[in-house]
Amino acid sequence: MATEAYAPLILIVDDHPDNVEVLRVRLGALGYRIATAGDGETALTMVAEQPPDLILLDVMMPHMDGNEVAKRIKSDTTLPFIPIIMQTALDTTHSKVTGLEAGADDYVTKPINYAELQARMNSALRLKKARDELAAKNVQLAEMAITDSLTGVYNRRHLDVLLDEMFEHSLRLHEYLALAMFDIDHFKRVNDNFGHQAGDAVLAQFSRLLKHLVRDIDRIGRYGGEEFVVLLPGTGLDAGVTFADRVRQEVEAHRFEYDGGALKCTVSVGVAAWQHPGIHTRQNLVKAADDSLYVAKALGRNKVIRFAGPEFNANVKDVDDQHANGTASGGAARPG
Ligand SMILES: [Mg+2]
Repeated sequence: MATEAYAPLILIVDDHPDNVEVLRVRLGALGYRIATAGDGETALTMVAEQPPDLILLDVMMPHMDGNEVAKRIKSDTTLPFIPIIMQTALDTTHSKVTGLEAGADDYVTKPINYAELQARMNSALRLKKARDELAAKNVQLAEMAITDSLTGVYNRRHLDVLLDEMFEHSLRLHEYLALAMFDIDHFKRVNDNFGHQAGDAVLAQFSRLLKHLVRDIDRIGRYGGEEFVVLLPGTGLDAGVTFADRVRQEVEAHRFEYDGGALKCTVSVGVAAWQHPGIHTRQNLVKAADDSLYVAKALGRNKVIRFAGPEFNANVKDVDDQHANGTASGGAARPG
């Protein structure tokens, strides 16, 4: 039946070595992979180390009986779904009910009828497969809910959640946290001149560049159309600017290929970091990076501007004037 590589792993648990041996030989001959345990504690250890696909569990065992083993396995939320078939010598309604209440999925009575056992095992393994597929689907759905589908980075909603967590963590432990806000220069022209497929290719390749350049602990999110945010925990303003400028240079050097051609792009970046006397909330941090990005745009693009640095301070008044005049209201009206 089952081939070697994908044969289900069956854990046989019984305090009588003879019973274990008979099952091991019988089921092994059917192609299953077999593991065995002579008591409940050993079974629990083995399940934790390598969860089997099915457990054949003797009820009557000294120290820890089968019902207790089943209860512990079924209440352990770190484990995948593992079907349990109880083996009981007592063919009474009471013992079956107790086993089922403990979490057993099915039972067989001793002496074991092997045709019946195999039918019940097949049924339990089908249930296991269905549950595993459902669990995988749920993981996939949870991923999709927090991911930007075009670029594979986090979406804005989830990035806000991560920023909340990271900012709280930084406040509590007095650790640096840098935020770099990227905006692809003249992105509208890419779409207008080369088409939306070219625009999508630029966004996807820019995201890939970011993924290559960040550390494992950094987080990337798509914040708006062509606007991306990278959160850099444990990173001060200097290191944040260094990172941002490396990205800027990589983008400048990159040929963005799309179906039908290739094009060049640049990116503007604003970088802010906690700790800074002007930053008290995560909203402050985002605004500081956003204002810095605005200055980078105003100074000609393809630039990294650090919050409250000399270039920022020399030009921020213009930014505020433009904000005040209504020529710019946050990210949406920022020049491309
Ligand atoms: Mg026993």
